[in-house]
Parts: sequence; structure tokens; C-alpha cells
Amino acid sequence: MTEPKRRLPEWLKRPLPAGGNFNNTSETISQLGIETICTNANCPNQGECWSHGTATVLILGNICTRNCKFCSVIKGKPLPPDKTEPQRIAQLATELKIKYLVITSVTRDDLPDGGASQFRDVINTVRQSNENIRFELLVPDFKNCQSNALDVLADALPFVLGHNLETVPRLYPIARSGANYQASLDLLNQAKNKWPNCPTKSSIMLGLGEKDEEVQQVLKDLRSVNCDRLSIGQYLKPSKSSLDVVEYVHPDKFEQWAIFAKELGFKWVMSSPFTRSSYNAHTGS
Ligand code: SF4
Repeated sequence: MTEPKRRLPEWLKRPLPAGGNFNNTSETISQLGIETICTNANCPNQGECWSHGTATVLILGNICTRNCKFCSVIKGKPLPPDKTEPQRIAQLATELKIKYLVITSVTRDDLPDGGASQFRDVINTVRQSNENIRFELLVPDFKNCQSNALDVLADALPFVLGHNLETVPRLYPIARSGANYQASLDLLNQAKNKWPNCPTKSSIMLGLGEKDEEVQQVLKDLRSVNCDRLSIGQYLKPSKSSLDVVEYVHPDKFEQWAIFAKELGFKWVMSSPFTRSSYNAHTGS
């Protein structure tokens, strides 16, 4: 039986702003052959962000070794890391005059360092021609190589280190089956212990069937590893084969979560239906 189609509530209907610098951003990205999570994940904020000249680059290709059911990035056998990628991203940063660059990657379980050296090389290459640029990384969980990956990344400090828990642990088997909740927390913990001055950040999505008590516990778990920044957004089904939305959470509820998170001690919180981990990320620094 097919699922009844859910009607989008009013607060999720909005015009797609695509003015400003949208075309320039789009052309520059495509001429340089750069992947973005904005397009690969069908992000609803693309019109707004690209109009402001902001995009989140997706390094290490657009084929993922995992098959998370909330994400539309395709699963398969990825290509080896591209040695020209750091230089192309440096050019993007120069051409778009980017002051705060968010870098993410597909999960690369096939690489011994999980792709950490490509993150490092991108940052250090971009810095050579864009001295004052600041960085935020949204990294995979570096399964089986967390310590090694953080050692590699140490050569590219400073940056904000983001790693997303995505949802509550009970829903991992259906939403994030290749991942482990505790391992994700451990990564954030290790980063904070290693680099106390490095802000850490995580994100979760609402609307996958999580319960309030479970969300509360996730936020407490994040604070227990001294995670500094938090973003919370509405899950929106990004492709036909992705998980269905269980609930459209009212904007008031997002505000309540923001208050709760601040009371727990998060230093920066963004919580709204359209919040994504990289959305307005520069406002945290
Ligand atoms: S919120 Fe992030 S992923 Fe979405 S369009 Fe903006 S920069 Fe891209």
C-alpha cells in the first residue's frame, strides 16, 4: 500500500528566492566542477544561500559508502580522492569572496583515514590564497579511524568541528544504519578533549518519529561531551526512496527546543523548520 501524501503545512511553503548572486554562484560552482551538499541533498535553502553567495562544498565525490535513509546522496563505489579538488575549492573561495567556508564530505569508509587528509589539504590550500577565511567542517564519523583522522586534521586548525547525530539512537537502525550513536558522540568528545578551544557542533532533524524525551536525552548527551553548538531542523524527504516524514513539527516547538538547549548550556543554537547544519553557520563565529 502506498503512503498517503502528506500536505505541506503553511510554514513550510515559501517562494524560492533565486535572485541576487544566485546565477553567479551556480555558474562558478559548475565551471569549477565542484560538488555541493546544497544540490546533492536537495536542500530547501539553496535559493536563499546561493543568492547570498554561500554554498557548502561536498568533497571526496558525490558517491557515498553508506546508505542513510534520510539522505539523497547516492551509495556506491566512490572514486579515489581528486588531487585537483583543493585548488579548485580555493579558486571558488576567491571568486565568490567567501569569508566562512563550510566543508563536508560523503562518508568514505573505503579510505584509511576516512578522508581526513582531503579535508586538511582543502583547508590548507584555500588558506594560501584566502588568508582570513574561517572554516567549519562537517565530518563523517570516521568509523574505525577516529583518532588517526583527528591527528590528520590537527594540521589544519583552527576550524569549527561539526559532526551530526542526525536523530535519536532508537531510529538509527532505520535512518542511519551504518552508524553508531555512541561512536558519533565519542568523536565529538575526542575532538573537544584534544582541542578545548575548537568549537564543536552537531545537528539533529525532527519529524522522523522521535519522542520528546528522546530528543531531550540527545541534547543532554551532546552537552555531556561539551558540544558547543547545535542546530535543529525539520526532516524533509529528499528523494522518493528516502524515509517518509512522520511529522511536520510546528515552529513553536522548534523555539521551545532552542530555549531548552540554551538552558543546557549550548553557546549557539539554531532551531527552526528550515535550519540545516550549515544554514547561516557563519553567525556562530
Ligand atoms: S543550508 Fe547549507 S546545504 Fe542548504 S543551501 Fe544553505 S549552505 Fe547549502
